[in-house]
Amino acid sequence: MDFQFTEDQVAIKGAVEDLCARFGEDYWKEKDAKAAYPEEFVDALQRAGWLSILIPEAYGGGGLGMVEAALVLETINRSGGTAVSAHAQMYTMGTVLRHGSEEQKRRYLPKIASGELRLQAFGVTEPDAGTDTTRIRTSAVRDGDEYVVNGGKIFTSRFQHSDMMLLLVRTTPYEAVRKKTDGISTLLVDLREARDQIEVRPIRTMQNHETNQLFFNDLRVPAENLIGEEGKGFRYILSGMNAERILTCSEMLGDGFWFVDKASKYASERVVFGRPIGMNQGVQFPIAQAYAQLEAAAVLRWKAAVMFDDGLQPAFEANAAKLLASQSSWAAANAAMDAFGGYGMTVEYGIERKFREARLPLVAPISNNLVLAYIGQNVLGMPKSY
Ligand SMILES: Cc1cc2nc3c(=O)[nH]c(=O)nc-3n(C[C@H](O)[C@H](O)[C@H](O)COP(=O)(O)OP(=O)(O)OC[C@H]3O[C@@H](n4cnc5c(N)ncnc54)[C@H](O)[C@@H]3O)c2cc1C
Repeated sequence: MDFQFTEDQVAIKGAVEDLCARFGEDYWKEKDAKAAYPEEFVDALQRAGWLSILIPEAYGGGGLGMVEAALVLETINRSGGTAVSAHAQMYTMGTVLRHGSEEQKRRYLPKIASGELRLQAFGVTEPDAGTDTTRIRTSAVRDGDEYVVNGGKIFTSRFQHSDMMLLLVRTTPYEAVRKKTDGISTLLVDLREARDQIEVRPIRTMQNHETNQLFFNDLRVPAENLIGEEGKGFRYILSGMNAERILTCSEMLGDGFWFVDKASKYASERVVFGRPIGMNQGVQFPIAQAYAQLEAAAVLRWKAAVMFDDGLQPAFEANAAKLLASQSSWAAANAAMDAFGGYGMTVEYGIERKFREARLPLVAPISNNLVLAYIGQNVLGMPKSY
């Protein structure tokens, strides 16, 4: 086991820190206040090649691994930014890479790598299905060379800032399949052609996160945009989940370390009762506790990332790392909020912005209850609740 970064990895971290330094607290504060998409930041990330590092060099990407991708996302969030505005491309692209035809890969991946095409939207969640993805009802019916899509999605993020959307649909209804995970397919929707046929209702949330409800009414998608085999889409999405968990978990860790950095500095400087508040164990210990928890979660995340790069399926490691990262980041958020006292609530200090952002990972991209159910049932073999 080797827990040291290579020289190249250290250089990646440094380069991402330099890029992020151009987008300071005022930038993120303004975007948050206006509920605006951080277009300039996403452009800069794309131009520097960080969003395409997981795309193989043969398709114009960086050809690096999950460890490097995790490092990029963690560094963005530790610097005070939010990678959520751009992260989805890193894992949705994996569905095309692993399950798309050679023709699809050649058509899309080089353009995604160069930034000409953004594949940032991922439509899975539906209002009536919730976490039970097998219950999705958005249907795609074959009509000649096209699929005709009807139904709707909820919480589809970055739709308005994406050229392509990976869409999960039922090509066979739930009632007509023997195994509930069968009959689900994955379509790549070209929003440059289809956007006008989709009704969009933006959803305001407690953090600056462009997310939407979508309605499809006879949306026509070329049949050649089916990824892999019809009816096998659920498996394709599942195979990308480990990557999604490792990447989003890295952002949670970045947030958590940001809180610890801010809180420990503030607690060392703020003097009340004639001494730094950080001398008081009631202030110091929760920060230290959160830091220890974050480091432990980070080690599990590195294990998951290394296993992924070795071609293994780190389902337990990736899920457990997500669980622990979201919890330790939330603990760090609360420790920072307490340390900053009243100033934590003010917009000026930035703690309240990250605090709002740190709540989401307990629920999305997968709620922690479902992670615990996975560990309890699939890893430990206890009775299934669903
Ligand atoms: C800001 C934001 C952005 C998002 N972006 C996207 C996106 O881009 N694409 C996308 O497809 N989705 C997206 N989502 C959706 C997100 O993945 C879901 O909200 C999440 O998976 C939970 O689903 P739900 O909200 O329907 O909750 P529900 O499934 O209704 O669950 C509600 C609560 O019940 C609990 N629960 C349900 N079943 C069980 C059980 N069997 N055992 C124990 N507890 C249970 C859950 O843990 C949860 O706490 C986003 C959500 C948000 C808020």
